[in-house]
Amino acid sequence: MVSEVWVPEDILEALLESARRKYPLEVLLFLGGRVKGEVAFVEEILYVPWIEGYSHAMPFLDQLPPGEVIGSFHSHPGSPLPSPEDLAFFVEVGVVHLIAGYPFRRRDVVAYDREGKRIRLRVGQRASF
Ligand SMILES: [Zn+2]
Repeated sequence: MVSEVWVPEDILEALLESARRKYPLEVLLFLGGRVKGEVAFVEEILYVPWIEGYSHAMPFLDQLPPGEVIGSFHSHPGSPLPSPEDLAFFVEVGVVHLIAGYPFRRRDVVAYDREGKRIRLRVGQRASF
């Protein structure tokens, strides 16, 4: 089980910027990277444009590149707490899930494991990973 996720600063900023742009709609993006032991390293955003704006778009998940997806990022117009639909979605894909709550600052992002348990989110420079 993953207990920690590392996200490069520039990726986190890009995720938050897309959340701001989409507000008050939700944005849903997927995260590529790798998992070593209990730590997940986010290395890229997997843009799947036709999913944006349709949170929990389950029928499309089989279109994602297999093996590269380690999790997801999505935004909430309110608090970053997972909904029952989110919890059902979390177990379907990846091992780490980020939710950004309004107003989408860094401290509004919370990381969860696939069971919806809050995990540690670390933000840093790419080179430090
Ligand atoms: Zn949600």
